[in-house]
Amino acid sequence: CVLGIPKEVTKDERMVSITPQTALALRKKGFGIVVQSGAGALSAAPDSEYEKALCHIVPDVRDVYKNAQVICKVQPPDRTLPEGAEASLFRSGQTLISFFYPAKNSALLAELNKKGVTVLAMDMVPRITRAQKLDALSSLSNLAGYRAVIEASHAFGRVFTGQITAAGKMPPATVFIIGCGVAGLAAIGTAKNLGAVVRAFDTRRSVKDQIVSMGGEFVPVDIDEDAEDANGYAKPISAAFIEAEMRLFERMCPQSDIVITTAAIPGRRAPILIKENMVRSMRPGSVVVDLAAGTGGNCELTRPGESIKSPNDVTIIGETDFVSRMGPQASQLYSQNMLNLLDMLNDHGKFVVNTKEQVVEQMTCCKDGTVTYPPPKMAVS
Ligand code: NAD
Repeated sequence: CVLGIPKEVTKDERMVSITPQTALALRKKGFGIVVQSGAGALSAAPDSEYEKALCHIVPDVRDVYKNAQVICKVQPPDRTLPEGAEASLFRSGQTLISFFYPAKNSALLAELNKKGVTVLAMDMVPRITRAQKLDALSSLSNLAGYRAVIEASHAFGRVFTGQITAAGKMPPATVFIIGCGVAGLAAIGTAKNLGAVVRAFDTRRSVKDQIVSMGGEFVPVDIDEDAEDANGYAKPISAAFIEAEMRLFERMCPQSDIVITTAAIPGRRAPILIKENMVRSMRPGSVVVDLAAGTGGNCELTRPGESIKSPNDVTIIGETDFVSRMGPQASQLYSQNMLNLLDMLNDHGKFVVNTKEQVVEQMTCCKDGTVTYPPPKMAVS
């Protein structure tokens, strides 16, 4: 089976789907690999490294699609490029493995299905223990949480740790984190390691212990309701809960130097949690990092893709490429998730998308001319 690695064309995407190190491991397992020249250039993976990993380098992306049976990408194929949409390069019988976000890419899914392409979405890997080794969302959210603190610290421009020196006393920075999934927990750990006082909140009560184990303090709302569904994800909350949450954030914002928001509800727009009046109540020089900017943002003032200053000198960071800014490591993790998936699809040397296997079934969006998204509901495991 020949794998194709095209260069990512999405704006600000520096990652590559398969690094030279992983490519070598795949070659040893019997895969052939065609790489578009420059595919890894923004992730510290020059063509020469792919050559050392026994890959075949081609200058023209069309040769990747012509020669490969499986196209490995990071971002969903682009349909809009003036120089030729990526989606149009696919041919019948090929398989695509990439992030795909099928709920918002139905036209792309229909186009690829019509061509007879099989689509496996890395964002549809089920959050079950058996699939953890393929869970690219978690791998990358972990990096995003770390980077959110680094970006916050850069914009804040002050030390995080408290200090007592001959020149006086400096209190530690106070960091408030809203939403403690993978990214939020990574942000808690990073901010704590830098010496900040970290407080955190999530609508799911079960994360309290995880917050504490990362060195944070869980701040509760004054209402008795838990917003966790049977699968461990956040579910929509009641109006009374939202009001209680807002009261909490109104209290926390003026006493926090940095607010990091990561709150998401799968398949929906991110909830607005930090209102304009809360930003207005923050001290000059404070920072809001909105990790939910990609799905609309948790802060009312966030401009997705940008960093802005509020009139009272609060920086609101809405940039959406934190993971890509760490291209080499992000690619390394993603690539390892890919390798684990390809192992699962390798049936004694033959590439087989076996949808009887539950993890594969959940990731498959279309196959054999049929759109299979959304997949059957999974039993809780
Ligand atoms: P996510 O990115 O979907 O959401 C981030 C967090 O925002 C969640 O913790 C959610 O509860 C919280 N949130 C939503 N609405 C909120 C609101 N109004 N106010 C405050 N917080 C709000 O989360 P994720 O990182 O994808 O993780 C989701 C779940 O999946 C977690 O329980 C996580 O532990 C679990 N998970 C399990 C595995 C596994 O393999 N077992 C792997 C990864 C994640």
